[in-house]
Amino acid sequence: MDLTARTPAELSDRLTALRAEHQRLKGRGLRLDLTRGKPAAEQLALSSALLGLPGLDDHTAADGTDCRNYGGLRGLPELRATFAALLQVPAEQLVALGNSSLELMYECLVDAVLFGVVGGDAPWPREGRTAVLCPVPGYDRHFAICEKLGIDMIPVPMTHTGPDMDEVERLVADERVKGIWCVPKYSNPTAATYSAETVRRLAAMETAAPDFRIFWDNAYAVHQVAGVDEPLADILGLSVEHGHPDRVFVFGSTSKITAAGSGVAFFGSSPANVAWLLGHLAKRTIGPDKVNQLRHARLLPDAPAVHAHMARHAAVLQPKFELVDALLEKRLGGTGAASWTRPRGGYFVSLDVLDGCAARVVELAADAGVALTPAGATFPYGKDPRDRNIRLAPSYPDPDELRDAVEALTLCVELASVEHLLA
Ligand code: PLP
Repeated sequence: MDLTARTPAELSDRLTALRAEHQRLKGRGLRLDLTRGKPAAEQLALSSALLGLPGLDDHTAADGTDCRNYGGLRGLPELRATFAALLQVPAEQLVALGNSSLELMYECLVDAVLFGVVGGDAPWPREGRTAVLCPVPGYDRHFAICEKLGIDMIPVPMTHTGPDMDEVERLVADERVKGIWCVPKYSNPTAATYSAETVRRLAAMETAAPDFRIFWDNAYAVHQVAGVDEPLADILGLSVEHGHPDRVFVFGSTSKITAAGSGVAFFGSSPANVAWLLGHLAKRTIGPDKVNQLRHARLLPDAPAVHAHMARHAAVLQPKFELVDALLEKRLGGTGAASWTRPRGGYFVSLDVLDGCAARVVELAADAGVALTPAGATFPYGKDPRDRNIRLAPSYPDPDELRDAVEALTLCVELASVEHLLA
């Protein structure tokens, strides 16, 4: 029944019952965690062959490179060719570097702040305060980079088809707006994939800043969980077509394909931007870990191999997403107290509770031994103006723990809602 339609007397009775239930839950001494967007051990095991690769006698890449030695800043051509197809970047414009795409995003922003980017004539902050658009809810680590570097953040609402493009087009008319964060496919946390029209508008829009950048964090490019691959338009190709060839920085990694933390990260962009990044990186490193790249090339020799591998991840993840949806529906469906996403890919479920209730839900869950991502984490500066969004990460717990955690969560949502309606 819709909680918001209940009389105060009914709500008071319900509050008494829910408080008793919460007390019993606390008595169970649970220790559960829904915060970690990490692969479960069962998923990591899908890539355990990596630990034996490339093998004692195998250290030569397709072009004859001895992977044990220095050099090759762009990364191994065969691995770049495989991921070029998946990340929609021409192989010669894709580089494979390091183990973390987040690190490459940080590098790009630091270089923008210290030196400026192609098409600009000064480091970003020298031209006054700089701002970046942040579709919300979004990825907290993107926001943390901006906060650290003193870049202002302007929230833009996310819709089912990507950021609100009318708002984006309005805001980029201000020349201090230098960029936008985008997680274009199975976005973190709403799981929305940008529509073809959104991608076209991002590529085509006129921006007041000549050195505007789209930080295209395609972290979940191949991470479908429901057997349907949601198509994503080719932002790099479209930006060239619309006369903005240097607008887009594409990022990706194998973190949630092979071993999170021991994978390979990718950067793709225009030839001028690739030269820009490599020029800076060349001062920092003599080359990437090519042995790790070779082992990845052996495990995942081509794009079909990556898709087959991802289908095995999906077989582990899909039942977890279904369980979360079923439990949310069972207790909260029809109550008017919550709405949530039903992801077809990625790693997260985005839960919206009644305005003003998210922090209280997180607090009640913590009291009962269930750790949730802090309320507000999906917004710049950790501040959700409506205090309603909570990011759920179902991948890491085993199914029994997941069930306990989500059942506890749904109780906390109902309790916080009734408290709020009576206040
Ligand atoms: N980008 C997004 C949107 C993510 O959700 C994550 C991890 O959760 C990352 C980047 C981190 O990627 P990497 O491990 O390549 O640094």
